[in-house]
This record gives sequence, C-alpha cells and structure tokens, in this order.
Amino acid sequence: MKSINEISFNGKKVFIRVDFNVPFDDYGEITDSSRIVAALPTIEYVLSNEGACILASHLGRPVGKDSELSLKKIIPELKKILRKDIIFLENPIGVKTKEACSNLQNGEVVLLENLRFYEEETKADINFAKELSSLADIYINDAYGTTHREHASTATIAQFFSEKAPGMLLEKEIVSLKKLMEKPKKPVTAIIGGAKVSSKISVIANMLDVVDNLIIGGGMAYTFIKNNGGTIGESIFEKDKLNDCSEIISLAEQKNVNLFLPEDVVASNKFSNEGLKKIINIYNIPNGWQGLDIGPLTISNFENIVTESKTILWNGPMGVFEMPAFEKGTLAIAKSVAKATSSGAFSLIGGGDSVAAIKKFNLQDEVSFISTGGGAMLESLEGKILPGIKALN
Ligand code: AMP
Repeated sequence: MKSINEISFNGKKVFIRVDFNVPFDDYGEITDSSRIVAALPTIEYVLSNEGACILASHLGRPVGKDSELSLKKIIPELKKILRKDIIFLENPIGVKTKEACSNLQNGEVVLLENLRFYEEETKADINFAKELSSLADIYINDAYGTTHREHASTATIAQFFSEKAPGMLLEKEIVSLKKLMEKPKKPVTAIIGGAKVSSKISVIANMLDVVDNLIIGGGMAYTFIKNNGGTIGESIFEKDKLNDCSEIISLAEQKNVNLFLPEDVVASNKFSNEGLKKIINIYNIPNGWQGLDIGPLTISNFENIVTESKTILWNGPMGVFEMPAFEKGTLAIAKSVAKATSSGAFSLIGGGDSVAAIKKFNLQDEVSFISTGGGAMLESLEGKILPGIKALN
C-alpha cells in the first residue's frame, strides 16, 4: 500500500472519500464538526501540493434523495474550517459534473452531493464507481468509519485508479492497529467491557491470539460469572452466550492468556443514579440487586495490570459510566491507561462507548490513539480484512 507522501499531486484532481457524516440538532445546526476537522490534514496536504480536491461522503441513511440529508447543509461549516470557497455539485455523476471537475484548477475544492442518494453507492455498483472515478486522477480514502462497508466509493472505485492511498487519518488508524496486532510490545492487555458479550465475542476470541492479559468488565462480565456458577441477581446477562463464555475461558487457558474478571461490584436496587448502593462480591448478588460498576478491590487489581502493560487496547466501559454513581470503575481504568501511556505504553482506545468515556473524563490527549471507527474498529479487531483497506493494496 502506498503512502500519501509517495504520490505527486501537482496538477492532479484527487477524489477524496471523507466521512462528513456529522450530527445535526433539530434546527439543522451541526452539533459536532470533529469529523470535518479530522479530514482537514489530508485536504490541506493535497491543496498545498498543487492538487485539486473532489470530496465525497455519505450523510445518514437516506432512501433516495432527501433534502434533510443533503451535504449542502455542511457547506458553511466546511468553508469556515477550510477557509476556502466550495464548489457544490448536486449530481455526483453526469456530463455537467464531469465538465466541472475537468475544469478544476489547482487549489480548488469540490463537494459532491450525498452519495447514498444513489442506491448504486451501497450496492457497490461497478458502473457508478467507474463514473465517479472518471472525475479524478488519484483516489484517497480517509473515511475509516466506512472501510468495513463494501460500497462504490469506499471499495469498488479503487480498482479504476493506479494512484491510490489512505488519507492521513486512515493511515494513522492502520498504523495504530498494526502496533497492536503485529509484534506488539509485551505485556499486551486488552480491556473489554460494555453491555453485552454477544457484540464482542469475536473480538475477544481473536484478541486471545494477541494478548497476555484479558480484562473483562462492564455488563458482559455477568454472563461469565453466571457461567462460573455465581449468583448475579438482576444484573444484565445473556443466557444464550454461556457456552461462548466457557469456550473463551478454556481457550484463554490453552493460549496462556491471563483472564481477569471482576471480584467485587457496586450493586444497586435500581438501574438509576438515585438507587441504594452497596459493594458486594460479584458471585453473591442478591435478588433485586444488579451490578452496575466494578468495585474497589477489582479497580485496584485491574489498575495494577494496566499500569504494568506496554501495549493496551481498551474497548467498552467497566460500568454504567453515564451515571455518576457508577462511573468510578471506568474513570479509574481511563486514568490507569493514561498513566501507562505516560510511562511509555502504546494505548489504543476503540469502539463507541470507551471513546465517549475517555472524552467525558477529559483524558483524550493522554492516550496514544483514539480510533474514529466504531464498527470498522470492531471488525478490524475481529481479524477481518476491511474491504475499504483491501481495495487500496
Ligand atoms: P457497548 O456499546 O457494548 O460498549 O456498551 C456500552 C454500554 O454498556 C454503556 O452504555 C454502559 O452504560 C453499559 N454498561 C456497562 N456496564 C453495565 C452494567 N453493569 N449493566 C448494564 N449496562 C452496562
């Protein structure tokens, strides 16, 4: 795979698949423009190397054309962030679009309308991809969050370019994952939490080939504890995943992975910040009570393992961190990941809620890398080769 630094952009038109799928409030205002800001380094790199940019993205999940999901809505913000005028093209394909793109001058920026207005995009239609490719000389993909999708603009299109590479954002994701999955510095620890075992079972199974320590916390721990014969009261648990837990436990043993489960929990009589609370052994949670955070003994055990690690993956919170009454475990883990990082460990935070947690605790600048792709990150950790990345090879 080529790096963006190996490509000459001088006088070239560059199709950049970005992720401008930003959230809006009820008044049509963007509530978080970080995805636009994140695309800036690649766009600026192309422009400063005398190229022209053709930016393409999706927004939401439209069925056909839908003015609510038009990328026109992001133009003011994009102009402000880029400090440049934007040429907006309502039809991503067609004669007029081709003409407008062929007349593009170095330093100019085009934004195409939401590609998902066309069902050909999600169907990975080869003719649609070919039409899109005819607008440019070079293909750059900088949308990690959609690399697990085999769509026209994320995968199919790449075959029509001899010059193609990941953008700066995507390259960082690829490099960070390599640091974790290929010859990581030992000891390697994965901290996996969140609500359900079912959504992460394949990640856990795949990580057993990579890690020395596997820490399981959050809601998913209770299915393991139930499997081990514990009484878990009303704690969240998945009956149909008990066998999977047994399998993970024996696989961990076979592969010499140290598997750590919580020993004590903060339990409550309500799924609420206002319920009664008590710290109890995770194997003896009475009826009417549920475990909503890891307890102090568990925090201290997990902290010791994390701070001694040299490579850390963290995916999923240790408890219901959204409620202050049950945030302590997740906060402690976030702090120990930050501490290990300051002592030279490489830490990768990936997957929706642990990213939200680290931001809530304002520790986002104290870890090595925060992945921008939820589903894409999970699939990478499951060991899958993502179509959007494969297409760049
Ligand atoms: P996930 O998307 O699978 O990473 O799950 C994240 C969600 O799991 C968060 O919203 C947490 O509030 C929730 N969660 C974590 N621990 C527990 C628990 N012990 N009981 C119920 N939900 C939990």
